[in-house]
Amino acid sequence: MKCFHHPDSDAVGLCKACGKGLCKLCAVDMGQGLACADSCEVAVRDLIVQIAISRKALATTPGAYKTQSTIGFVTGGIFMATAGLAALTPAWFVAPLLALFGVPMLYQGVRARRTYRSLLAAHKELPP
Ligand SMILES: [Zn+2]
Ligand SMILES: [Zn+2]
Repeated sequence: MKCFHHPDSDAVGLCKACGKGLCKLCAVDMGQGLACADSCEVAVRDLIVQIAISRKALATTPGAYKTQSTIGFVTGGIFMATAGLAALTPAWFVAPLLALFGVPMLYQGVRARRTYRSLLAAHKELPP
């Protein structure tokens, strides 16, 4: 690959912001990526900051959703099991009421699980 500005020079890498090939003269090393000298430095710096923020957020939030999902499944499961048992007793009429609470809890568990998975996927897709 050649430099975008100097077709005779070999590129040492790509600009993290605009993706153009850069030679030694045109590239500024921003620590976690290269930038076009005098044009993309600010953009690349902002990008690196954004990625760092996303990475930090994505490192902690999936765990919270995982916990929420487990709580939803467990409490929803307990409510549904209790509803099933209650249905066999003379107090059968409380079963629908218990199920009425159990279903949204299970649904919450499914939703939190979905969010957890998509956050994990997003974490993997973050550029280095
Ligand atoms: Zn650039
Ligand atoms: Zn160049």
